[in-house]
Amino acid sequence: MDDRRVGCLTTPLAIDQLAMRPTTSAIPVIKKHKRSVVPHRILMMGPQGSGKGTQAQRLAAAFSVPNISTGEIFRANIKGGTELGKLAQQYTDHGDLVPDQITNDMLRDRLSAPDVAGGFILDGYPRNAAQVAELDEMLAELGVELDGVVELTAEREELINRIAGRAADEGRADDTPYAITKRLDIYAEHTAPLTEEYRERGLLARVNGIGELEAITEQIISELDRIAESEHSHYLTNWQPKK
Ligand code: ADP
Repeated sequence: MDDRRVGCLTTPLAIDQLAMRPTTSAIPVIKKHKRSVVPHRILMMGPQGSGKGTQAQRLAAAFSVPNISTGEIFRANIKGGTELGKLAQQYTDHGDLVPDQITNDMLRDRLSAPDVAGGFILDGYPRNAAQVAELDEMLAELGVELDGVVELTAEREELINRIAGRAADEGRADDTPYAITKRLDIYAEHTAPLTEEYRERGLLARVNGIGELEAITEQIISELDRIAESEHSHYLTNWQPKK
């Protein structure tokens, strides 16, 4: 294992941040959505400003699984001044993707941590076709499969307004007009087309990201229910009648 991987995983900051991320009030959702099958390995996709990060947190709370945000891990490492952070910052500040090798190593480590065994919400990965293949490999190594892929949608104008509002609140280094435009362009060109692959696999839950938070969470969960119950679901393909 090279230093970079060790550096990333042993960073207390990264682990603490992941374990202690604030959760939102999604608990009522669990009560309302009694289901026989709980989807628990979920990807979150959607352009910057679509509310993906917020909904990822709400789903993680509803399903009691960790919320893994690649962007948050990079930000935690940048803040903590780790080697990984120094590497990543050269890209994140300009709105560029961090090179695949660095991102893949980091995610592989994170997905093999014990708290992920029961499931995860993965926000921010995959972002290009190579990462789709890499994720398939990582999950195969772990002997698990995806249960659903959520795509939140919104018009570009709405996204730019939302990010501008957030930029004032959060002061993120990559929320400059130049970096925002670049990130939206990269999303449209390299990431949005990936949803087609997941749609073909029968895993895609496409939900409008504009509206009331709770209503959007409910819609996501009901779409995930539909997927879990569909013929594409590995739950059903693996299901055996009781003898
Ligand atoms: P946003 O979706 O608003 O761009 P994120 O927090 O998801 O914000 O990501 C912030 C930055 O972290 C990205 O612009 C990119 O530089 C880097 N990053 C996050 N995920 C990936 C990834 N899967 N591959 C490459 N770079 C990534």
